[in-house]
Amino acid sequence: MNFTELGLSQELLHAIKESGYEEPTPIQKMAIPPILAGRDLVGSAQTGTGKTAAFALPSLHRLKEHGSCRALALAPTRELAIQIEENFCKYGKQMNLRMALLYGGVKYGKQLEQLRNEPDIIVATPGRLLDHLGQGNLHLNKIEILILDEVDRMLDMGFVEDVTRIIQKTPKSRQTLFFSATIPDSVRRLSKWALHKPAEAKIDIKISAADTVSHALYPVPAIQKFDLLISLLESIKFENLIIFFQTRRGTDKISQWLTEHGQTVRVLHSDLKQRDRMKALEDFKAGNVKILCATDVASRGLDISNVTHVINYDVPQHSEDYVHRIGRTGRARTEGEAFTLCKPEELSLVDSIEKLLGNPLPRKFIEDFAYRDEPASLAPAAPQVSKKRNRGFGKQVSFGGRRRR
Ligand code: AMP
Repeated sequence: MNFTELGLSQELLHAIKESGYEEPTPIQKMAIPPILAGRDLVGSAQTGTGKTAAFALPSLHRLKEHGSCRALALAPTRELAIQIEENFCKYGKQMNLRMALLYGGVKYGKQLEQLRNEPDIIVATPGRLLDHLGQGNLHLNKIEILILDEVDRMLDMGFVEDVTRIIQKTPKSRQTLFFSATIPDSVRRLSKWALHKPAEAKIDIKISAADTVSHALYPVPAIQKFDLLISLLESIKFENLIIFFQTRRGTDKISQWLTEHGQTVRVLHSDLKQRDRMKALEDFKAGNVKILCATDVASRGLDISNVTHVINYDVPQHSEDYVHRIGRTGRARTEGEAFTLCKPEELSLVDSIEKLLGNPLPRKFIEDFAYRDEPASLAPAAPQVSKKRNRGFGKQVSFGGRRRR
């Protein structure tokens, strides 16, 4: 099935052609027909599958003509909101539709201007949208299409009450679309309440770029983690690299140390001003800087391509986050490597990740590194792994109902 057969308008087909898309991705094939038919939908697909176009294209098709505040897309992070807005603009270029982009951490001026301009489509993060609603800057009583992207993330970030309040302000007659990488019970409950007989479009989460990412676990005493990171950076050839941290403080601290060691880095986490976050992302995407230090803000949703290496400075607390983090590398069938530094206390988290992946992470030790403890004592439960690069976990992993906390 091609885009024309999906029944999209000429304006959209033109924009699709300009974007260089030759055929719809699987999630687009599954999601576009029911959305065009006006049905509610739960789409489970991760970033990189073309999910944004899967909801943006049919939503634009259904909106057709200008009319104030008819579509609302909610996103958990500012970066994702910006990305969604860019997609709507790109696909709707030939249509007479206006946008408003509302997120926190910036002044209200430009957003108020956009709202006064009677936008057709509003893309927002929940907090700032509620601020605007509280100030009477817009109303949601004409919303025809409500989209929630990365719903699982939104709930993980504690937005359930905000999201519920927002949904309650929209008309019951609306069409509601949920997109979520995983469908844990919390998402299922919310969708049961908010959606009416939804169609389902499910793309099983594949261990991202399975055959193009090689993985390794580097056991290390807690006190030597930073030293090992430095040794690792010296021993690998990377074009661009994201280092993930569990906390904002940790991100700041290690970035500072890296800078003191002569590395040029950019930092991305949610405590920073929006302007600084955008600048960091732009610098990294443009290749002006090779290392991005980030919390999980960068692991989901963002369309950062061509990352050659990912290093988890901390083992992710939730096993799915491992998949999201490594999803930054090995995209578009380029080679990628994902390294995880692991202190003994984090081994139980590794265990969950390996169970989810269905494969052990190969343990590696840096030859000339002066480990304080015996390597064997750092990873006693190391499973048997092949000496070859662990290319691809082969099997598909469905996250449905397997969330581990
Ligand atoms: P997303 O999953 O929405 O973040 O999209 C990931 C990337 O896939 C974006 O850079 C899109 O521009 C691109 N994309 C979306 N749909 C298609 C398609 N049908 N063919 C090729 N690339 C696409």
